[in-house]
Amino acid sequence: MRRTRLRATLLALPALMGIVLTATTPAGAEPAGPPTAGSDRSPLEDEDAVRHVRIQMTGGAMLEKVVDAGIDVGHGLQRVPDGIEAEAVVTAGQVATLTAMGVRILGADEGFEWSHVADGGLRNTSARTAQATAQPANTATARIVRADWFTTKGQGFLYVEARTTEGQQTTPIVGMQLENDSGRGTEFGFARTMSRFVDSGQYMFHRNLFKLDTRPNKIRVTSSTGGVATGVVSDWLENAPPPLTSARGYKSDFIDGYKTPQQLFARAEEIARQYPDIAEIVYLPHETNGYQRKAQATIGGTGQSAVVVSSAAWGHEGGNDITVEFANQPGANLPLAVEVTGKAVRVLLATDAAGAATSTAAEVAAALQTQSQGLIDRAHPYRTNTGTGVVVPTATPVALTDFLDQKRVGAPEGEVPRGPATIPVLRIGKHRDGRNPGVLIQAQDHAREWVPATTTLETAERLVQNFKTDPETKRIVRNTDIFLILSNNPDGANYSFYNFASQRRNMTNHCPDANADPARRNSWGVDLNRNYRVGSGHDGYAGASTSCVSDTFQGPEKLSEPESKNVIWLVEKYSNIKFMMSVHSNGGQLFWQPGAYIADGRITTPRPPLGDEAFYWQSAARILSQVKAHRETVVTPQNVGGSSDVLYSSAGNVREDLYHTYGIYSFGWEVGGSIYNPATGNWQGGSFQPPWVGDPALVSGHAETMEYANGIMEMFRVAADWGKDKKKPSSTLVPGGGTYVRPVDVRFETSEPATIYYTTDGSRPTLESPRYQATEFREPGQVFRVTETTTFKWFSVDTAGNIERNYDPTKNDSRDNYRSATVTIKK
Ligand SMILES: [Zn+2]
Repeated sequence: MRRTRLRATLLALPALMGIVLTATTPAGAEPAGPPTAGSDRSPLEDEDAVRHVRIQMTGGAMLEKVVDAGIDVGHGLQRVPDGIEAEAVVTAGQVATLTAMGVRILGADEGFEWSHVADGGLRNTSARTAQATAQPANTATARIVRADWFTTKGQGFLYVEARTTEGQQTTPIVGMQLENDSGRGTEFGFARTMSRFVDSGQYMFHRNLFKLDTRPNKIRVTSSTGGVATGVVSDWLENAPPPLTSARGYKSDFIDGYKTPQQLFARAEEIARQYPDIAEIVYLPHETNGYQRKAQATIGGTGQSAVVVSSAAWGHEGGNDITVEFANQPGANLPLAVEVTGKAVRVLLATDAAGAATSTAAEVAAALQTQSQGLIDRAHPYRTNTGTGVVVPTATPVALTDFLDQKRVGAPEGEVPRGPATIPVLRIGKHRDGRNPGVLIQAQDHAREWVPATTTLETAERLVQNFKTDPETKRIVRNTDIFLILSNNPDGANYSFYNFASQRRNMTNHCPDANADPARRNSWGVDLNRNYRVGSGHDGYAGASTSCVSDTFQGPEKLSEPESKNVIWLVEKYSNIKFMMSVHSNGGQLFWQPGAYIADGRITTPRPPLGDEAFYWQSAARILSQVKAHRETVVTPQNVGGSSDVLYSSAGNVREDLYHTYGIYSFGWEVGGSIYNPATGNWQGGSFQPPWVGDPALVSGHAETMEYANGIMEMFRVAADWGKDKKKPSSTLVPGGGTYVRPVDVRFETSEPATIYYTTDGSRPTLESPRYQATEFREPGQVFRVTETTTFKWFSVDTAGNIERNYDPTKNDSRDNYRSATVTIKK
C-alpha cells in the first residue's frame, strides 16, 4: 500500500494564476546556499594497465557521452565553473577515447584546487569606481539566489548564486559582476566576474565561491545589461558544539578500521543480542546474487580462434575443478568430438584429409555446449568475433577459474563466504511498533565506498551504548524507529575488499557474449543506485547506462536486482519510514530531489513543493552543522540541494523513488570529499578508501566516520522532532490586505517550512488549488504584482501534515477556517 498523506497530493500541478497577478521577482532577495571534489574509479579491463587521472568535461552532454563509453563517472563528480571534473581510473585506450571526445585530461590525482578564488580582500578601487556608476534601473533582470558566508580552518568564504533573466541569451552572453562590502555600513567593492553555469543547454545561474578574510554584510550583483540586485549575506552552518558528543560521559569513536560485510553484519547481530530491549534484526527477504562467479577461461587462441568457456556450476560449487583441453587427433577426416572424464573435458578437434585440425572456435563452442555432459553451459566466440578461426590445441588442460581466489594485495585476512548473502537490517528503537517515524540509513550501495559503512556502524554503536546514560540519545531511541543497512551491496563490497578495490556495482553479470569473457569480469554488475523506478534511465532520464560494462549500468529492467527490491520491500512493510539517507562517498555533498532529468529540454522529476524544499534546507543545515562541529569540515551550499540542480542527473536513483512513490524525505549524501587545507590554501580531494588514520585534519577514514556520524545522529533528531510536531503552521500575506493607491507586490510568508495553497477567484482553497511556488528553483517564494483589487484565500500545511487553523480543505463545512486578505487597489 502506498501511504496516503496530504503530502501525496502535493505533486498536483498548480492551476493558472489570476489574470490580475503577474509573477515578478522579489524586491530584495534574501539570500538563503555549492566546491566539490570527488572521484570515481572506472571499470578495468584485466589486460590493461590503468592510471588515475582527473578529467574535465564541458558539461552534462559530454558527461553522458563519457558514461556511454563505459568510463566510470557515476558520482563524486565536481562542478567547476567551466564544466564538470571527475577522477577516473583509465586505461591508455580509454585516455585516447576521452581525448577524442574532447575531454581534458588534467593529470594524475592532483589535489583539488578551486581556481576561482578571489583576491583575498584587497580592495579593487578601479573596479569600484566603474561599478559605482551602475544604476539600479533594471532590477528585474538580476536576482540574488543565495549569498552565504562560512569559515573553515580559519579561512572565510563567500558563496554566491545569482540569476539574470537574460541568462539563456547567447548573443551576446550576459555576464554578471559581484561586489561585496566589508561589513555593515561599508561600501561595495572588490568587483569580480561571476561564472555562468549552463547544464544540458539550459542556463542555470551564475555562481562562485570566493575566499575572503572579512565577512561581508551585503552583496550587489550587476548584469552586463544593467540589472542590479542587492542582498544580505547569510551564515551557512552554525558554529555550535555538537549536542551529543559534547555531553558529559557521552561515548563515541567505536570503530577501529574499515569493516568487511561479514564484520558489519556480525556486529549488527551481536548488537541485537546485547540490547534486545532496543534493537533487533530484520532480515531482508531477497538474497543477493552472491559473491560467486562461474569458472571461466578463454581458450584456443586469440580473436576469431578464441573460445570463451563458462562452467554450469558456480566456481566454488565445482566449476573451479573443471579442466578443458583442445587436442589434436591422429588421423584424417575425423569428426569433432568431446570426451568427459570426471571434471576433465577433452575436445578432440576435427581433421581434414591431410590430418590437419579444422575445428573453428564457433564449432568447438557449439560442441562444448551440447556434449560436455552439463559441465559447460556457456561457450561462445570471443567478444564480437563470429569464431571463424581454427582453434589452436592446448598444450595442457586449462583449469577454469572464477578468479575469486586471486586476492588483491592488502586484502583482509580470512576466507570470504561464497554464494548469496542475506542482508540484515539493524533496527534500533524503544518502540518498534510503527508509532514513531522510521529513519532508514542505507550505506554502501556502491561497493568501494567503505566510509559510509563505518559511519553507519558508528551511529549504531552511539545509539545503543549511550541509550542508558545520555538523555538526548534516550530521546532519539524513544522517539524514532531506526533501520540501518550497514552494507547494501555485500557481494560487491567483498569483491572490493578482496579482489578489485574499485568495484562499484554488485556482482551480477548481465552481459551478453560480447562482454562475457573473464577479462571483462571487473566491468560487470548493476549500479544499484540506477536500478529504481522513478526518473529511470528506462524512461529516458539521463545519467544511467544501458551498457552492461558501464559503471552506471542501470540493469536489464527496473528493480532487476535483489538489493533494490529489498529496499522497496522494507519501506512498504514498515510504512512508518518517513526519512531516508542513502550514504555514499566521496564528494562532500548532500542531495535531495530533483535528482534526474530528461536531457532534451532538461525536464527534471517533479520539484518538491516549497514547504518540502524549505524543510530539506532546514534539515540539511542542521545535519551539516553537526558534521562541521567535529573538525570544521564544511559541505558547501553549492553541493547541497536537488542533485540535478547542482551536479548532474542520476537516473533511477533510490531517492527519487522513495520520495515520489512513498512520500519519504530522501537524502543522498557523499561523505568525505573535498576538505580545505589551510597549509596549501586549496581544497583537497578525497578518496573512496582513504588511509584509516591519516592526517586527522585532512583525508582520513576515521575522521570522516566520526564527523559524518555526527550528521546522521542529527538526522535522527530531525526525525524525532518531526514526529513530535503537532504545532500548526501560520502564514501571512506580506505586506497584507488593505488599500493601496498603486499596484503592489505581495508574497506569502510562513512560520515554519510549509506549503501554501491559495485562490484569487473567491473560491475556498483546497489541495487542488494553486500551490505557492518559488520564483525559480533555489530561490524564495514568488512575488505577485497586484494591479486590481484581489482577494486571496489560502491555508498552509507543514511537513508533518499539520494544517493551519485546523482547516479541513477536503470538507466544505461551515467553518471555512482558511485565511483571507483583500488587496484593494484604489485608482
Ligand atoms: Zn556511491
